[in-house]
Amino acid sequence: MKAGVEPLLNDGFAGEATKRSLGYLQKQREKGKNIVGIYCGYAPLELIRAANAAPAVLCAFANKTIEAAETVLPANLCPLIKSSYGFIKTDTCPFFAISEAVIAETTCDGKKKMFELISGIKPMHVMDLPQLPDQKEALENWTAMIKKLKGFLETTFNRKIEDADVEKEIQATNEKNRLMNKIFDFAALTPTPVTWLEFYDLTYLGQAATTQDMLPILKETIAKLEKRVAEGIYHGEKDSPRVLVTGCPVGGDATKVFKIIEEAGGVIVVLDSCTGMKPYSGMIAENTPDPYRALSRRYLDLPCSCMTPNSRRLDELDKMIERFKPDVVVDVVLHACHSYNIESHKIKEHITGMHKMPFLKIETDYSQSDVGQIRTRVEALFEMLPQK
Ligand code: SF4
Ligand code: SF4
Repeated sequence: MKAGVEPLLNDGFAGEATKRSLGYLQKQREKGKNIVGIYCGYAPLELIRAANAAPAVLCAFANKTIEAAETVLPANLCPLIKSSYGFIKTDTCPFFAISEAVIAETTCDGKKKMFELISGIKPMHVMDLPQLPDQKEALENWTAMIKKLKGFLETTFNRKIEDADVEKEIQATNEKNRLMNKIFDFAALTPTPVTWLEFYDLTYLGQAATTQDMLPILKETIAKLEKRVAEGIYHGEKDSPRVLVTGCPVGGDATKVFKIIEEAGGVIVVLDSCTGMKPYSGMIAENTPDPYRALSRRYLDLPCSCMTPNSRRLDELDKMIERFKPDVVVDVVLHACHSYNIESHKIKEHITGMHKMPFLKIETDYSQSDVGQIRTRVEALFEMLPQK
């Protein structure tokens, strides 16, 4: 955002999403809440919250722990997995340290096998994620897994989880998502009054924080954005290329891609990933006879590349293109993430074919070695866009 404009989250942690989130979780711990580490967007947060626990995201985005991880893990593995494991191996992850239990899902092979290596450190519960989301058995099986998780949380924390509390958390998530989407609507404006870093600050905190704690923050954010619009404050230039970023989760050192996009003159208006808007995109059915089944449906609808077919991702991209009016789509794929990498071809065909829009795949890791090469490709992408 331009100099002199107050950050949306003006709490001393602007641009430091993980530090803010850690501070929040430490306060929850002091208040007597349990902390549950999670590794994936499929972890049913409502159930964790119904157990009076707070979720701590354990996925890591720092290059500094990869060397230590590679003493055990193969070098040719996704940096997210290596970084996350490296933090545990070097005993330097404060999120893992305050977690009293860990929830893992059978998403990609690398994560699945990494979980085996850390399974003895804290109580861990692995959920068997169905990967054919359109099959009727998927809903039944994932509902059963969610109910099994309920049993694990009840046993681990010696606390009964009431169905009514799960329902309450479902409704709370929907309220949070409605407000988050009001904020995302500001990004749909041209020019946009919000930056990717401000988005990231909000979406990251929203994973750990309850709706009750997020409500005042979200309402204040909306008021600030309304003021920015009224005062004609916007991010970038009026004719900046609008960028939709899709693909693997991105944070920490991998945000080099976002910085390069902005330095090249682009403005990121959508972050479609598990570290961006994806967790807030849908609603969970309320007041159903079985809240666990309602959770199951919602989480199975998440368009991750570990699903096959993952046609929901194309549907979601269509909606985002309609809503945010990007000029280009950038697909960020982490090295050795085979599912996102292979799926990238389908995404490219869809974006360039149906939407007639330029598409760029960036395959990267957490090192800085490819910054120059990425910059050249992003600049070339923007140069070929028609003048606005
Ligand atoms: S991209 Fe897929 S596997 Fe990774 S956190 Fe998101 S849902 Fe989980
Ligand atoms: S980015 Fe890909 S390989 Fe890495 S943890 Fe996520 S799904 Fe697995």
